[in-house]
Amino acid sequence: MRKLVGSLALSLCTSLYAQVGDQWKIIHAGTLLADAREAVQSEQSIIVRNSIIVDILDGYVSPGEVTGTANARVIDLSNQFVLPGLIDSHTHILSQQEPNPREVRVTRSNEMSALMGYEFGMRTLRAGFTTIRNVGGARNAIFALRDAINQGIVMGPRIRAAGQGITPTGGHGDGGGFRDDIFPHPHTGVCDGVTECRKAVRTQVKFGADHIKYVATGGVLSQTATGTEQQFTDEEQIALVQAAHAMGRKVAAHAHGKSGMMAALRAGVDSIEHGSYLDAEVADLFVQTGAYLVPTLIAGHTVERIATEQPEFFIPAVRQKALEVGPVMRNALRIAHERGVKIAYGTDAGVNDHGTNAYEAVLMNEAGMPAQEILIAATVNAADLMSLTDVTGTIETGKDADIIAVSSSPLENLSALMQPTFVMARGNEVDLDVPPLDLFPWPNF
Ligand SMILES: [Zn+2]
Repeated sequence: MRKLVGSLALSLCTSLYAQVGDQWKIIHAGTLLADAREAVQSEQSIIVRNSIIVDILDGYVSPGEVTGTANARVIDLSNQFVLPGLIDSHTHILSQQEPNPREVRVTRSNEMSALMGYEFGMRTLRAGFTTIRNVGGARNAIFALRDAINQGIVMGPRIRAAGQGITPTGGHGDGGGFRDDIFPHPHTGVCDGVTECRKAVRTQVKFGADHIKYVATGGVLSQTATGTEQQFTDEEQIALVQAAHAMGRKVAAHAHGKSGMMAALRAGVDSIEHGSYLDAEVADLFVQTGAYLVPTLIAGHTVERIATEQPEFFIPAVRQKALEVGPVMRNALRIAHERGVKIAYGTDAGVNDHGTNAYEAVLMNEAGMPAQEILIAATVNAADLMSLTDVTGTIETGKDADIIAVSSSPLENLSALMQPTFVMARGNEVDLDVPPLDLFPWPNF
């Protein structure tokens, strides 16, 4: 009988051995990329007890060959490429683009958003993304969805959530042009000046934020012609970051324009989202501060495509920004990659359809990033950015069983990621054979 030989086996030995009711699974992995930074191995067995990986062994292990596994179910992936569950560092899981965003903003309830988030979460999970970092959405809804998934009440990807994105008055994230009695002013995600900004951060933390998201610059989809340059001042950004870090929360800054990005990096943010107008000088500051870039190429690609193919879809102010920002994002990633900026995978899903998250990998590759580095960005790096290195991002003894498979090697062709053949999240196998609901009556993007 083989013994558990994983690195954590000694320290965990009392909990690793079988208990009544334990669910054991043995995954036979034909090709295994356990850690995207390392080489693949062939013919490996991954032993899973309940939600945790308890060992990885050479060869195909049979039930009973390892202590406790007599009744284990064998999952045959011997002709598949097995890798860690993917991680999307930038999602808006509660919503998806609709042609009437202004109306939705003042009519949709938190309860409805949570229910939509459940469906979008399942689409994301079935696409092989077992963890997401949500960076802005209805606060009560996202925390409820996160907690329901964590407690096993509903299935979904592991969610780390920001609550509301923080924005200056009139900035990207604030609602422009509504009557005061219809859209409250100010709402709790809005702040101006150092004192208010500290309070806005602390308010999100109070209600349950895992991290803080703020907008350093204007954004493409805000319904105003306010550009994509710096919005929060340098002082406000320093106050936001200090308040978050003091409470142990990392900070993601949405930024397109250069001055806003530089200000955010100097303020000490942990990641810049989008980074559209990144150049060599910005890249060097990234390297100096150690911040991650989350490129979201698919968001640029999507808005550019909509603006081109459906000229009436966006209001003119948004269409203008979409046509400008879309094309520059690939160039930004190319420069960032060349100059050694740390990159974490993220899509802005909600702009693109939930469940299309893996297409980002294809676009990153087209922008010049090698496949292996993209897989590192979507696993190890994204886990690091989300402070989840001990939990997920590699297939390793002691970590959660977040495991997916595809039918051919994504190291050779990343489009293989777009059709996972197997998804396991925290030891639970996900049913992939579910046709997506036709939630919206217009063509998806
Ligand atoms: Zn976003």
